[in-house]
Amino acid sequence: MMKYNGILFSGKKIATLTLATALSMPLFAAEFITIGTGGVTGTYYPTGGAICRLVNQYKKETKIRCSVESTGGSVYNVNTIKNGELDFGTVQSDVVYQAYNGIKQFEGNKIEKIRSVMAIYPELFTLVARKDANIKNIMDIKGKRINLGNPGSGNEATALALFDVLGIKKSDLAFAGALKAAEMPDGIRDNKIDGYFYMVGHPTANIKDASNSVDVNIVPIAGPKVDAFVKANPYFAQADVPGGLYKGNDEPTPTFGVKAVLIASTDVSDTAVYTVVKAILENFDEFKTLHPAYAHITKESLLDGLSAPLHEGAKKYYKEAGLLK
Ligand code: GLU
Repeated sequence: MMKYNGILFSGKKIATLTLATALSMPLFAAEFITIGTGGVTGTYYPTGGAICRLVNQYKKETKIRCSVESTGGSVYNVNTIKNGELDFGTVQSDVVYQAYNGIKQFEGNKIEKIRSVMAIYPELFTLVARKDANIKNIMDIKGKRINLGNPGSGNEATALALFDVLGIKKSDLAFAGALKAAEMPDGIRDNKIDGYFYMVGHPTANIKDASNSVDVNIVPIAGPKVDAFVKANPYFAQADVPGGLYKGNDEPTPTFGVKAVLIASTDVSDTAVYTVVKAILENFDEFKTLHPAYAHITKESLLDGLSAPLHEGAKKYYKEAGLLK
């Protein structure tokens, strides 16, 4: 009898506990978020690290745990967010625009579940060339061995768009390389390529490595066709790679750029996105010291260059902070 009662009693107890656990889930369960970035020597990867560092210092209270993944870059990040395997990603603003609107390489692959969190810093389209390759301007790449970027990189996407307007075909090159970002400095040093394109926030470890191991030029990407291309696309802006950042390149070099945008999936909770934005904004001075590419950013500039709608969690914080009406 006792035993029988015992069994009944524990059955009830288990049911009660299960209900209690289910009800308390939203309060006590940790939420894990992963940010997809780029190659480890680029600027996305340390940016993901800087963000997670600020987010994780509150993990006891917020129960939100942030981690960073090195990836193939912008196009990979949006596609992987679509698949549900990444929560956040750093993505070039031209790629955000094309993915959200289903145009260019995203024709038939419209990615509607991406939302803007913040436009962090400018990235400039940079052509790094061996000095001995004699590449003085963008049109000189014909007949040369040029790395466009791995499939999935934003560099490759922007390079191909630029080729279109300049009337350059891949077959005009002696070799169109697909090395990953982290492999590009060795490629140029070992004379496997004459140059490489990189859409990146400056200064970056990647180009420092290259310029410290072989003589390189940052090549101007300018002229009437480039001007027209920049004017025709809202996500581009003319900009100079500053002089003095890389060995042998003391003068500014004209080119154009985009913004490096932090995006999130619509599947990520408003609370998690709000927590990320708050952690960055409330430690903004510290954040700015975490990478020299953030030298000129302001809280206001974070809202400049967004080409997908804001995530609700981000909107909530910006409104509270008076940055958005
Ligand atoms: N903009 C590059 C891309 O989307 C990555 C730059 C970086 O890793 O800093 O592929």
